[in-house]
Amino acid sequence: MNHGPTPPVVDAEKPDQLFAVIRRHWGFDALRPLQEQAMRAVLDGRDSLLVLPTGGGKSLCYQAPAVLRNEITVVISPLISLMKDQVDGLRACGVPAIQLNSSLSPEELREGEQAALEGAVRLVFASPERMATASFRALLTRIGVRTFAIDEAHCISHWGHDFRPEYRQLRELKRRFPQASVHAFTATATEPVRADIAEQLGLRDAEILVGNFDRPNLTYRVVPRNEQYDQTLDVIRRHPGEAGIIYCLRRRDVDQLTPLLKSNGIKAIAYHAGMSANERKAAHDVFTAEQCDVVVATVAFGMGIDRSNVRYVLHTGMPKSIEHYQQETGRAGRDGLEAECVLLYSGGDVVTWKKLMQKSVGEADGPVDPQYLESAYRHIADMEAYCRPVKCRHRSLVEYFGQQYEAENCGACDLCLGDAEPVPDAQTIAKKILSCVYRVQESFGAAHVAGVLRGANTAAIRGREHDKLTTYGLLAQHTLAEVRDFIQQLIGQELLLQVGDEYPVLKLNAASWDVMKDRRTARLLAIPVPERSPKADASPKSRGSRGAEVSWEGVDRELFEALRSLRLEMASQRGVPPYLVFSDATLRELARVRPSALEKMRFIYGVGEAKLRDFGQAMLDTLDAQCDSRNLSRDNANAAPPPPRDETPRKLSGGAIVAAELFRKGASIDEVMQNLKRARSTTCEYLSDYIRVAQPASIARWVPDEVYHQVAAAADRVGASALKPIFVELNEAVPYDVIRLVVTHLVATEKN
Ligand code: ADP
Ligand code: ZN
Repeated sequence: MNHGPTPPVVDAEKPDQLFAVIRRHWGFDALRPLQEQAMRAVLDGRDSLLVLPTGGGKSLCYQAPAVLRNEITVVISPLISLMKDQVDGLRACGVPAIQLNSSLSPEELREGEQAALEGAVRLVFASPERMATASFRALLTRIGVRTFAIDEAHCISHWGHDFRPEYRQLRELKRRFPQASVHAFTATATEPVRADIAEQLGLRDAEILVGNFDRPNLTYRVVPRNEQYDQTLDVIRRHPGEAGIIYCLRRRDVDQLTPLLKSNGIKAIAYHAGMSANERKAAHDVFTAEQCDVVVATVAFGMGIDRSNVRYVLHTGMPKSIEHYQQETGRAGRDGLEAECVLLYSGGDVVTWKKLMQKSVGEADGPVDPQYLESAYRHIADMEAYCRPVKCRHRSLVEYFGQQYEAENCGACDLCLGDAEPVPDAQTIAKKILSCVYRVQESFGAAHVAGVLRGANTAAIRGREHDKLTTYGLLAQHTLAEVRDFIQQLIGQELLLQVGDEYPVLKLNAASWDVMKDRRTARLLAIPVPERSPKADASPKSRGSRGAEVSWEGVDRELFEALRSLRLEMASQRGVPPYLVFSDATLRELARVRPSALEKMRFIYGVGEAKLRDFGQAMLDTLDAQCDSRNLSRDNANAAPPPPRDETPRKLSGGAIVAAELFRKGASIDEVMQNLKRARSTTCEYLSDYIRVAQPASIARWVPDEVYHQVAAAADRVGASALKPIFVELNEAVPYDVIRLVVTHLVATEKN
């Protein structure tokens, strides 16, 4: 079995070596928030729990330290399909890794175990079931494993939304391997789950790191559902040839929608729990291998989806909790590039969920925890509150997870982007609707009331003489979809009630009367029509978000597509998913910078040594051919800013202000680190902020003159728009933090 190459042994003491390892294998030139702290905990052997949203970069936190230390880290992961992709991904980066699980033949298992015993691998992926076997534990004891990483750690908690009984055995880990440190990773944020994970795993004096829950590269939209198929097709057509996931509430919706999409020429595939394990695996593989664009699925689909270039997630109905919504939308834009999340919402979704839950309680084998329904209903109510057109979606989500959102306008949700215009005569419309509900004696549903208001000539209306009502035809100038949507919005604002499960009817409440007497104002938004295609060729508003504009800037689309098909070809030759060859972010940068030689390709984001060796030449050939025939410029400065994730503006937080004061007084980096108990990377960010704002004449206090001049000279030669070329130019001898400080200073003082 080929486990991949053996990396050179490095001295774990030097922090810069960690960066060197990350650069060499992954081709990244900066760490994301909390990564350094998390890696430090792993290197120090201190138990830890890292909570970062999906796509936040959790895996690097145990992978890079495993490479740096010359030792095995055991990774416990819930899904075998996930393990295979992770192993393939690591090998593509030149990191030796194996999986030990039931998908292997006995022969392969023996070989893998042998390789682990010989110390030929750095990462061993195993399922919790395997962890429970005595023979596997004996193997780990023989190897003397000192580090365990628990992926999707919320699966151990009853409080989480994805409890897995087999995870419970991991409680034994600390007892059986007392000398080892355990590191838990999850994207589930709520405090009780977090505390439960730490307790269940028996973490000792753990470093608990909780990241920012915002996903700035995602644009959220909530749209009233009226013409579901048309609305679905609209979203898909905004993303031609791009990957998307469409979530439906029920299997039968999946079964109806999938053929419909196919008949519209869309490469779609179905996925739900009613399919056999083989069928599901096949669907999963087809999607991961980029042989289809759209998966139509129930919530059963998702865990184990690592395809990083999912550009949109569409919910055709409201999910049953914000945790689910965050998890499901989290599968979009894992590569940090822009992606869109659209939720088609109707007030009826709440009724559907309640019915499903009552049914599941009715069908349960044993007694049901009495708190179950209560807690489930609360989750639904929170989710419904999110759907109301009241508060910025980014803010709503972040606040739900107990964090603060600073920006006034996120620039990436329907409300902040102004997709939906306020309806000018909202109050009058609201009053017409409410009085119609009164006229039909609060005994009819939304469809009937909307029909009366529009003056529909139907038997149901004539039969009840509702065509004789004063409100008949009062909203005839609006479409049926509009009137129904207005009704939903009033329900959303709790100015109107919808009661009853089977046949919900509209009823008035005190707030309704306040509106009718003009003591309260109703707000209505026109049905939003996001324009098409958030692409470079679309009008500015339709690009969806700032992120989209930034990340396509200067990218040659045709070249990007050519590189993308080359990636597909190379991936299928190797039997690995395309995103493991290169991420979309790397392809865009290649199609923007268009390096003219292999050594220049090393400057590109995501190109480490192994990938340069394995894929560099083929990429270069395509670049040459395309650039020659279409006369495209080469070696462009990489002017576009990094993906939006890394670009989130850093506000001068409390820490930064204190740090700035210390730096102003001449404190060294180490002193500030100790004083504020911050990681080096964070302290350097503070210093960088200080330099940018205060523009000191010299930074010799923190960077020796000699090094400063070296970096400045290198920046002169290769440009200062990206750090990586400077790092390479200086033979990787000057750490990134130092380069960043010098460049910040150069830029800050140059403007004067
Ligand atoms: P998570 O496990 O938190 O969902 P991943 O570990 O899958 O996230 O990382 C998401 C993506 O971000 C991956 O494509 C990964 O290669 C990339 N990534 C991780 N760390 C960095 C970094 N420091 N710089 C750039 N990209 C990174
Ligand atoms: Zn917003």
